[in-house]
Amino acid sequence: MSTADRAESGTLPATEPMIVTIDGPAGTGKSTVARELAIRLGLEFLDTGAMYRAAAAIALDRGIALDDEQGVARAALEADLHFDWSADPPALMAFWVPIVDRLRQPDVSRAVSPVASLPAVRDVMVRRQRVIGQQHPRLVTEGRDQGSIVFPDAEVKIYLDASRTVRSRRRFDQLQEAGIPASMDTVEHELADRDHRDSTRAVGPLICPEDALLVDTTEMDFSEVVDTLETIVRERVSSRAGAGARA
Ligand code: C5P
Repeated sequence: MSTADRAESGTLPATEPMIVTIDGPAGTGKSTVARELAIRLGLEFLDTGAMYRAAAAIALDRGIALDDEQGVARAALEADLHFDWSADPPALMAFWVPIVDRLRQPDVSRAVSPVASLPAVRDVMVRRQRVIGQQHPRLVTEGRDQGSIVFPDAEVKIYLDASRTVRSRRRFDQLQEAGIPASMDTVEHELADRDHRDSTRAVGPLICPEDALLVDTTEMDFSEVVDTLETIVRERVSSRAGAGARA
């Protein structure tokens, strides 16, 4: 079976590195979409928002001020953030214990954006993510700066977006499902606040990289989004295989 044929059905050829970045604002369903896309393509999945959430949780739980840039960065480094890749989805570990249950608590959601705007913290995370990319070079990775900063040479870059109302509704539904109390008003307000902070910070702001494909998911359901992304990646792989064959 040729590379192009394999790319049309089932997982992608297992030998080649393949980094797919998915960036975009909160509530676009990036994590769920990225995870499902990774399964369909036979790639691994990296949730970088979880890493920033972990930095925020560590700061809160150790009483480190959220604006103590060096203190938070040092604690995040000492935590030796890494994933247990045997779990599905991979489970984030901090100080060698799972931290997953803490990450979506409301106090962490409020603290994460200020923490993620600290340049020293971003520096720790970007380095760590690049090491993960070297160790797991067949990856769907999602966040805010994956295509722009962390993996500028990624094979495929996607930017997911949706209207703020739809994103707030999706985030509200997620919290309801997880049994975390919230009101729609609060969710919408916090999301607007996070959008603003994430896109205006000095280092690693949320942007749509020039070479990314923008996918607006406002009118799409989950499987339509994953189908669209899967088609984009497979087409890219086919054209790469075609170019390789002609060379
Ligand atoms: O994706 P998620 O909502 O879990 O991300 C939480 C927060 O982490 C974002 O609002 C953003 O402040 C930060 N983040 C970031 N860069 C990334 C991933 C997440 O700044 N690559």
